[in-house]
Formats: sequence, C-alpha cells, structure tokens
Amino acid sequence: MKDIIFGPINSRRFGKSLGIDLSPHRKQCNFDCLYCELEPAKVTDKYSDIVSIDEVITSLREVLMREKDIDILTITANGEPTLYPHLSKLMDRIDTIKGDIKTLILSNGSTINNFEVQEALKKFDTVKLSLDCITESCLKRLDRAEKSISIEDIKRGMLEFKKSFKNPLIIEILFVKGINNRDSEIEGLNRFLEELNPTRVDIGTIDRPPAYRVEPLTYEELRDISFKFNHSLPIYIASRKKITAEPSNYTKEEILNTIKKRPLTKDDIELLFNQESIDRFENLLKEGQIKTKNSGGYNFFVLNRQKNLKNS
Ligand code: SF4
Repeated sequence: MKDIIFGPINSRRFGKSLGIDLSPHRKQCNFDCLYCELEPAKVTDKYSDIVSIDEVITSLREVLMREKDIDILTITANGEPTLYPHLSKLMDRIDTIKGDIKTLILSNGSTINNFEVQEALKKFDTVKLSLDCITESCLKRLDRAEKSISIEDIKRGMLEFKKSFKNPLIIEILFVKGINNRDSEIEGLNRFLEELNPTRVDIGTIDRPPAYRVEPLTYEELRDISFKFNHSLPIYIASRKKITAEPSNYTKEEILNTIKKRPLTKDDIELLFNQESIDRFENLLKEGQIKTKNSGGYNFFVLNRQKNLKNS
C-alpha cells in the first residue's frame, strides 16, 4: 500500500510535490515506448491489477497527516494513469481531503479522445499530455502504441478537450535520434500545436537508461528544434542534458531577433548568453523592449511588440 504514494519531491516550478502511482505493482500501459524507463511490457488497453479508491485515499491521508506543506499532487502510474478505471471518482474523493493542494496528471495522451477520460481530466488543475509524433508510422515505431490507438483520434481528442478545459494544458514531446527529429515530423507537430494552442510545450530527450537501444539528442539539437516551432508557442527545453558549448556573445539586435523567434526561459538565457550578452539582455528588459509572460508555471521572456513597434 505504501508504494501508492511517493515523494515528496521539491521542484522549483511546483514546490513540494507528492506523487500518486495508480499502478504501483506492475507496469500497465497502452504504449511500449522505446525510451521508457520501465522494463518493456506487453501493451494493454485496460488495468487488470487495480488498487481501490479506498487504498489510495487511506495512503494519501496518512502521508498528508505527516507532510503538512504539500503544494501539489501529481497523479501518475507505472504505465498510463488514465487507464485507471475509477479516475473520475478518485478525483472527487481526493478533492474532499486535499484542501488547497493543486493537482496535476501526467498522461501519454492516448485516451484523450474518450469522453469519460476528458471528464475526469477536467477535474485537474493542470493536465500534461505527451505527443511525441504526428504521423501514424512514428506513433507505431516510437511509442509502439496498442493497435486500436490512432494519431487522428489523439489529435481530435486533444482539440476537443482544449475547447472546454480552461486550466493549463501542457504538451510534452520527447525526441529520439533518427525517429521523431525529422523536419517533416517537426513541421507536422508545429502545425498541429499552432491549432491546439496549449499553455506550454515541453521538449526533451532521453535522460535516463531507456528500455530499448535508442539514442538521445544533444541539448544543442533540442535548442535547434525549438527554433523550428512557431514563435507564438512557449517552448520549454526540459532536459537534464546541458549544453556543452560555451555561451555566446549576442548583440542587442541578435537578442531581440532570437526572442522574436522563440520565447526564452531564464535557463535558456544562462546557457546561451555570455555575461556581456546577459547585461545587454537585462538592459532590454529594463527598457521594456522585452517583457515576461507566465505560461503554465514558467516565466518566458517575450518581445514587447508595442515597444518594439514604437522604436522601429
Ligand atoms: S507511456 Fe510512459 S509508461 Fe507507457 S511505455 Fe511510454 S514512457 Fe513507458
């Protein structure tokens, strides 16, 4: 029973987070991603090993008695949490004991076309869905999805869900060398994400030993990919792999041009810019040519278009 709740984990973004694992005994997933950190397992479209709502609530209550300052509950699983058959009812019960604590779910996005799943996800403060591929062939090759899952259903479900979900919707793309980092795949993802307009897009690569023999991208490759997306999309490079090259010198115009192409985070600034460029960047911020915008918990630096129009 203890395995259901894990953490707490401190994160800069969310504060103190407690994890709830809805499949604590074994992997139950409708994907078998090449990059999965868990052991490979046969894909399934439903849970056969189901913890009861009471078990989850009892475990959670115990931990919440001990840990007084939890900021967020992260619902996840050894597998896919939306396959848990009582998700909606569980959220109602969690709501009665959590007080002001926020909730977040991490899903692979495969079930988003299902009406009941959408209704359950609407009970969360933040929903994070994966979308590694935009073509059927990539979905089958990289995420090795269960055979009834199609990319068209996922796209349709995401668009429908976004219409009625008013809280932050975050999309996560994990890039794997030679599979979904082709230009055609990125262009397709970009077109779809422009239409979806999520709160934020996290891009990353393999950070931990994967289930199969696949290779990560470098931080520089992720950064190059980030510039291929439309500048209106807040792209956050969520990778523990850090840049190997030295930070570069950017003129004032280069800083403005870079930010025009893609909103940057504080991490990006520290990795890309040398000290002189950081000073220039801070001056632009003081002058109001650059402003900050919060998207799904992260501050992004964006161009202050009004100020730049006046100056041009
Ligand atoms: S969706 Fe998550 S748990 Fe399922 S195979 Fe992919 S990485 Fe592993």
